[in-house]
Amino acid sequence: MTQVSQCKLCLLQKELVNSHFLPASIYKLCRDAATGQNLIAVSQGVSKHTTDQIRDYVFCSDCEKRLNKNGEAWFHKNMARPEGFTIQDALEKATPSMIYDSFVAYEGSKIPGLDMDQISYFGLSMFWRAAAHRWPALNAPGLRMERLLLGPCKESIRLFLLNGAPVPPHISLLISVWPYKKKNRHQWCSTHRWESEIKIVTHIGSTFPASISN
Ligand SMILES: [Zn+2]
Repeated sequence: MTQVSQCKLCLLQKELVNSHFLPASIYKLCRDAATGQNLIAVSQGVSKHTTDQIRDYVFCSDCEKRLNKNGEAWFHKNMARPEGFTIQDALEKATPSMIYDSFVAYEGSKIPGLDMDQISYFGLSMFWRAAAHRWPALNAPGLRMERLLLGPCKESIRLFLLNGAPVPPHISLLISVWPYKKKNRHQWCSTHRWESEIKIVTHIGSTFPASISN
């Protein structure tokens, strides 16, 4: 099935592909290989296992490649998996910029192993995708999710995703990394109270790339 319409990212009239809202690799990882159980979708107050994926004809193939090359591919390689979590491994080797009772913060752009250009592109693309289109709801035939309202930021982010236009300084992205492994309380700072979980937060507000490759 093909569909010619306006691509939501480049705004050109082109043949659209059946685009994913969440990268397909996330659905794959959410499936429990041991039990064969699929991810649980919550929709209209009902939760159930599903093999469905949120997708629709939204982007042209060039823009699909652009989104993949500038964030998805890196994210796919480095996100948390049963066998490990390379982003957290990189954070564990680094010294936090700030230490609080319940979380620590890092300057992500200075940490080897973190590609903040890729992380910020992927993060912003996810918010923007939710704003650019009313995606079909899971397990609710005929219904669509509400758009995320980003106001004037929506167009700024589209231009950033399309051609690397500067992101306005009032837009920032906060990335939280939840621990894959629990840490000893003395590994961070012995004078700080240990919480049952440590929340690792990376501030990247001013680290958006000046340019991206397309
Ligand atoms: Zn396009």
